[in-house]
Formats: sequence, C-alpha cells, structure tokens
Amino acid sequence: MEENVLEVKRLTKFFEVNRGIKPQVVQAVNDISFEVKKGETFGLVGESGCGKSSLGRTILRIYEPTNGEILFDGKDITKLSRKQMLPYRQKLQMIFQDPYASLNPRFTVGEIIGEPMEIHNIGTPKTRQKKVQELLEIVGLKPDHIRRYPHEFSGGQRQRIGIARTLALDPEFIVCDEPISALDVSIQAQVINLLEDIQKATGISYLFIAHDLGMVKHISHRIGVMYLGHMVEVGTSNDVYKKPLHPYSKALLSAEPIPDPNTARRKKRILLEGEIPSPINPPKGCPFNTRCPYAVAECFHQMPANFKVDNRQVSCFLYAPKYLRMRENLSIENLA
Ligand code: SF4
Repeated sequence: MEENVLEVKRLTKFFEVNRGIKPQVVQAVNDISFEVKKGETFGLVGESGCGKSSLGRTILRIYEPTNGEILFDGKDITKLSRKQMLPYRQKLQMIFQDPYASLNPRFTVGEIIGEPMEIHNIGTPKTRQKKVQELLEIVGLKPDHIRRYPHEFSGGQRQRIGIARTLALDPEFIVCDEPISALDVSIQAQVINLLEDIQKATGISYLFIAHDLGMVKHISHRIGVMYLGHMVEVGTSNDVYKKPLHPYSKALLSAEPIPDPNTARRKKRILLEGEIPSPINPPKGCPFNTRCPYAVAECFHQMPANFKVDNRQVSCFLYAPKYLRMRENLSIENLA
C-alpha cells in the first residue's frame, strides 16, 4: 500500500455568494494537502460544515477548484476539460449519502446500475445486463432484482444498489460521502463490511467521510481532521484516536461515544467554548484561535505550518520546536 492513487496539493475551493449588496466568499476548502495510497481508506472527520463534503466534491471536479492541484495516478487532472476528464470519471466515483434521493424512481434497478456503462459506451446491452446481474450479487442482492424499482427496496438495499452503480465502471477511487448516516444502525455495519470486502477483492481506495467517529476509526487506515476548511491533523487511525495531538482533534475525539459505561465515566470530555466561526469571515491566523485554550500571540496573526511529529502532520504552533518546553509545561500531551 505504498503507491499513491491520489495526491492533493494546496487545494482550495472558495464559493462566491450574493448576500446583500456585496458578494461574499465562503472559504469552504483552504490550502489542503494530503495523499491517499492504493488500497487505502482515508477517513475525514470534523464537525458539520467544516468542508469535508466540499473537499470530496472538489477532488472529483464536481466543484471546480479555486487553486491547487489534484493528481490522480500521478497525472494532474486539475485543469482537464470535460472531454479530457471523461476517462478519469470512470476511475473516480462517489457514493452519496441519501440512498432515497440518489436513485431515479422511474428507472429499474437494471437501468440505474447499467446507465454509467451506457454513458461511457462500455459493452453491448447483453454484456451490460450480465455485468449488472454480477454487480447485484457482489452487493448481496439477487440477479432477478434487475427489473424492480427503487421503491421496492429498504434503505440498506438501496444503498447497495447505489454501491453497485458506483462499481459498474470499475473505479480505482471512491469518495464515500456519509454513506451510512441515512441508514438504520443495524444496516450500517453491513454496508461497511460490504465496502471492506470490495476493497479486499479489488484494491480500491476510499475517501470516507462520516460523522460517526467510531465507524471512521473502524474502516480507515489513516485519518484527516478538518476544521473550518483546513486540515489540522493527519495520521494513522490508531495514532490519531489513541493520542490526538492538535487541540481541536483532542476535543473532537473526546466526544466519541464509548459503549463501556465504566470507561466512559473515566474519560475526560473536553468542552469547547464558543461557536465555529463563519467560513465567510474566518479568524486571522490559526482558524481554531477563537476556541483554543492554548492560543499564543502568534496564533492570532499567522497561519501555523504543518509540523511533522513522528509519522503525523499537525497544523499547530505548539508543535513548532521553539514551543516544545511550553507544550510540556501545559501538559497538553495528557489532556485527552
Ligand atoms: Fe491553538 Fe495556536 Fe495551535 Fe491554533 S496554532 S491550535 S490557536 S495553539
């Protein structure tokens, strides 16, 4: 799992919105860099509105990037035209959050799953039908479901249909945008297991976006923590969950529900003061400075660089060598 399938370099996506007389700019994704390896699941966590979905959609060029680069299999796809993007559209796919809204109710399951192959002129009607039936089996449905309509299925089954459609073009990279949040808890594990089985069989890579911290931890090899459009920490799932370094990661992960009541009672929960600032008017300097209990003068006028700590990347001044002593005195390591 060493070769990169995706590299994102200083990716930025700003949206212009018209509110009142002056147009304003929403800074949804701000200067983000990370990579996803072949066969890897990269989890994205952060509060609602922090830019996770915008990042996923910008990577797929559903939203046009404002700045930065997106490299897929080493090829820069940031500025490719619609036509030039076509072969990459096959390799880069998305699973949507809402299995009810994402399937056309007028189409049969066979038409829904077969449509991407038809658009890309892959195979004949007969070979496409065969592939649809195979895909239905892969996702745990029956080949004869091909003639049924979406309303005849449960939420979990519809999400399986959505996954089968995503797999129809043999993608190499899938953005899973909250793929389980609209499903019953009992069904969520089945869909996660299915995604893991598909990864084992095909070596596919996922960018997995979800609110459920436990689920992201379970499925992801590495994790990125986002706050206000910025990536504040990146590390392996084990490292980040065991010992988060960034003050925001510590607070976010301290809120993770723990099934064992005794452990839950012992765990210290960090409550952050204040609201997330607006991405239209983010604070100057570190985006977390309005809520961070450790902010130093520098945090209010300068953006922290990404500091390397062991195998991790942390965007916080406390991890700059000159603040080492101060960090030890604050005993920030023991907080969470
Ligand atoms: Fe807190 Fe400063 Fe670190 Fe930002 S850079 S997280 S404000 S200590």
